[in-house]
Amino acid sequence: MPARVSEAFVIQTYPLQESDLIVSFLTRDLGKMRGVAKRARRPKSGFGAGLERLSRVQISYFQKENRELVNVDGCHLIQSQFALVSDYQASVALDFLAEISEQLLPAAEPNEKFFRLLATVLDQLRSATPGKVWLATTYFALWSLRLSGLLSELHACLGCGSWLDDPEAPSRAFFERGRSGLYCPTCRREMGLGGSRELSPDSRAVAARMLKEPVANFAEMPWARETASDLRRFLTQQIETQIERRLVTAPTLEAC
Ligand SMILES: [Zn+2]
Repeated sequence: MPARVSEAFVIQTYPLQESDLIVSFLTRDLGKMRGVAKRARRPKSGFGAGLERLSRVQISYFQKENRELVNVDGCHLIQSQFALVSDYQASVALDFLAEISEQLLPAAEPNEKFFRLLATVLDQLRSATPGKVWLATTYFALWSLRLSGLLSELHACLGCGSWLDDPEAPSRAFFERGRSGLYCPTCRREMGLGGSRELSPDSRAVAARMLKEPVANFAEMPWARETASDLRRFLTQQIETQIERRLVTAPTLEAC
């Protein structure tokens, strides 16, 4: 690959030997990449705040043949999330968004919609919306699954296929850690889903609406930690089922 410049969000960085950093970043055009930023931890490195998590940047890099890691040689800051760092809840929300992006996105698969999802959710986090952290993280968790092709059917029971949203006879819906999707009361009983929890009709309605409307449309709802918290738990567990590990940031977020 010749030298390139891509618009990107920095997802995470990890210290490497001496003063180098491994940088994971989501480009708008080529998907998630990983690279080495040489001497990035030195005070006068020139990378500065550009490599903070979820900074929006123009990143320049090149790839040597047969190397998994690209070489990051420059980074121009477009927008930092620095204003959010003094807000503890928002700062934890940034960690949550970064962890999900890092864990769910495969390397080098273009996903421009995921890039735009991050941009709009970060706009929402920088807004003055009360309870914005709960709105932003819930919306992001739902759409990150959808845009990764990993969101299971929410209108039908995954055990028997019965319709959960029949307006004549709406069914309760349950979810359990380690299983994809929702289950009707009968399947819950017959499959012995003893640890399952209910996803409330209100939260299912919020999810259905979120899949059709932009995040800004939900700012007028009164958002607090309790708002759709069952939906957030369901989505977190669905992500964890896919990545086969727990999200480190999820309990920190819920304890905010
Ligand atoms: Zn069923």
